[in-house]
Amino acid sequence: MTTKPAAAAARATVYGYPRQGQHRELKKAIEGYWKGRNTADALRATAAELRRTTWRQLAAAGIDEVPTGDFSYYDHVLDTTVMVGAIPDRHRAAVAADPLDGYFAMARGTQDAAPLEMTKWFDTNYHYLVPELGPDTVFTAHSAKQVAEHAEARALGLTARPVLVGPVTYLLLAKPAPGVAPGFDPLTLLDRLLPVYAEVLADLRAAGAEWVQLDEPALVEDRTPAELSAAARAYRGLGALTDRPKLLVASYFGRLGAALPLLAKAPVDGLALDFTEAAAANLDALAAVGGLPGKRLVAGVVNGRNVWVDDLGKSLATLGTLLGLADRVDVSASCSLLHVPLDASAERDIAPQIRRWLAFARQKTAEIVTLARGLSHGPDAIAAELSANRADLASRATSPITRDPAVRARTAAVTAADARRRQPYPERAAAQRAHLRLPLLPTTTIGSFPQTGDLRTARADLRAGRIDTAGYEERVRAEIQEVIAFQEQAGLDVLVHGEAERNDMVQYFAEQLTGYLATQHGWVQSYGTRCVRPPILAGDISRPEPMTVRWTSYAQSLTDRPVKGMLTGPVTMLAWSFVRDDQPVAETARQVALALRDEVNDLEAAGTSVIQVDEPALRETLPLRSADRPAYLEWATEAFRLTTSGVRPDTQIHTHMCYAEFGDVVRAIDDLDADVISLEAARSHMQVARELAAYGYPREAGPGVYDIHSPRVPGAEESADLLRLGLKAIPAERLWVNPDCGLKTRGWPEVRASLENLVAAARTVRREI
Ligand code: GLN
Ligand code: ZN
Repeated sequence: MTTKPAAAAARATVYGYPRQGQHRELKKAIEGYWKGRNTADALRATAAELRRTTWRQLAAAGIDEVPTGDFSYYDHVLDTTVMVGAIPDRHRAAVAADPLDGYFAMARGTQDAAPLEMTKWFDTNYHYLVPELGPDTVFTAHSAKQVAEHAEARALGLTARPVLVGPVTYLLLAKPAPGVAPGFDPLTLLDRLLPVYAEVLADLRAAGAEWVQLDEPALVEDRTPAELSAAARAYRGLGALTDRPKLLVASYFGRLGAALPLLAKAPVDGLALDFTEAAAANLDALAAVGGLPGKRLVAGVVNGRNVWVDDLGKSLATLGTLLGLADRVDVSASCSLLHVPLDASAERDIAPQIRRWLAFARQKTAEIVTLARGLSHGPDAIAAELSANRADLASRATSPITRDPAVRARTAAVTAADARRRQPYPERAAAQRAHLRLPLLPTTTIGSFPQTGDLRTARADLRAGRIDTAGYEERVRAEIQEVIAFQEQAGLDVLVHGEAERNDMVQYFAEQLTGYLATQHGWVQSYGTRCVRPPILAGDISRPEPMTVRWTSYAQSLTDRPVKGMLTGPVTMLAWSFVRDDQPVAETARQVALALRDEVNDLEAAGTSVIQVDEPALRETLPLRSADRPAYLEWATEAFRLTTSGVRPDTQIHTHMCYAEFGDVVRAIDDLDADVISLEAARSHMQVARELAAYGYPREAGPGVYDIHSPRVPGAEESADLLRLGLKAIPAERLWVNPDCGLKTRGWPEVRASLENLVAAARTVRREI
């Protein structure tokens, strides 16, 4: 289609950018400061230099309006907590004494004051610090950080737009402070919070900000009528202020739904909407309200959370459709670029013909600028970019990497029966009982044992060529010997090999599967200074050879007790990777599931009678809108069953998830049809056991009796008490005894003592049955 030129030139902008720097300079500077290796001033100088570098790069790339205030030493929600003065009481003194140290104390905790709780930012892998609010919370405005960073960008001669977490999202992300009744609804504080936002907005206006962006991603989730009317009230109020900049209310991570008409009517000056996956829904909703006359629309057409080159022709068409629907249309990514790595051109190990399919933050920025030019001056103005882009997309669509006929034939032939075990659970349970001959209340662990510094050094040595593969594997075998010997001596019933050979539960498999890409510099912030390099599901997935069998077999050769094989499940393999966007995610899941199925079958053939397939991510990738959940759970549970259903009835399939709240996925957990599930339960006093019972969960379960998130060693009596609680919900024939999660982050002394206590607890309680 042809696109008529926009009346005013479209502006190119982004909402946020990776914070760590090309070489993770920020992480290094902050951790150096924590260790006392550099001063606060040095840290501030590094941070300021990184901000300037980012803005200069954005401007040089052609971004017309740069974001400010998106920078953070730790987390932008924590920055918002500071901005509104909602410092928890236990951190007040520290923040008053030294704002920077107090800030890090809130993020990381101190000897005497626990940190704020951390949780996932919507359905991304970024974690924010949860605001703690109560009826006594007093908000006060602290606009200094926002004002200063805005001034820095302006000093470079740039047009800059401060970006703030919006007041409604801020309150919806909060939880009741410790000691406040759990029923307290932070949204009741809205009228107290709005004057503080008004003050910050006035300060930014005084500092010369023409526009300010208020991020309200919480409005793309299902919201109650009360929440929606609170949002309407908030923007009526902020819009009515006289001393204010122009307000751009930004939504991302999906469709606005019922919040769209309400924001369209609000007296604000612009809206930012996600036109990637949510394009059709947002377009329809926008047309239904008659567009945004008199308002600015920032169109998030470039996907801000995947790593793939944009389809520029398609985005330009979307932008063209939007032209008639708002006063002016500007171009952006669908969300902050915080969620993608910095620069695909730095990936020298990825073949150039594949690298051209990738777009990280820098490449996405260039796409946004190109699209803004195309929108302003017509497609002819970007003819060269469009044709290069078409060639990139064509090369991806026809590459043998993305189209492996053998993989495609195999997924196409999958039937519903392939994803079902051949015998119903009761028959399998009987066969497994006869085969495994385990005691009542069998004891086991979740898989990993402490990843000692030694092991990490050995891996680094291997990478650097200081030791060879044989030397490294010798080291791993020694570790397995130790782990097996300890478990035998402690009296555990189902042993594990300890996962010593794994750097990470996803990366380890990604490195061995064809179709996955690893990056050299593709860091993405997970929380604070912790960055991860998610592997990229780039092509059709296949397993050239067994991935874990020899380690499990080696462990099994050392003992007569059953050793549990240990795999990462397909849903988690997708959740902690960048997923391809050129086929339905269900199809990618199915490919991964078939590769893992081969591994499961090979483990069984090698004599493994118990196989655990971990799915800690099953719940965290649950779509934000409940209407989207059934379809997700359908492919997710199918992929798990496809992975695990090729085994004999007497082979016992375990799964593991590490959270205590799974009410909304309990049916899906049942649908996995695993023989045994282990879950986190120690802190919630076996709440999950009661929830499983209330649901009528028919299979075996191991609610954790050892909280592995703490260095504390639970006594045998404490674990026994938890078991007795578990027995009230789950009959002895179906109850397992295990820790909450893997032990890789713990030290050996605590692990030894805790597991010995856990076995003692199981023995004590067995005698009471
Ligand atoms: N088997 C893994 C381990 O023990 C499970 C980790 C997880 O649940 N995140 O480390
Ligand atoms: Zn876990």
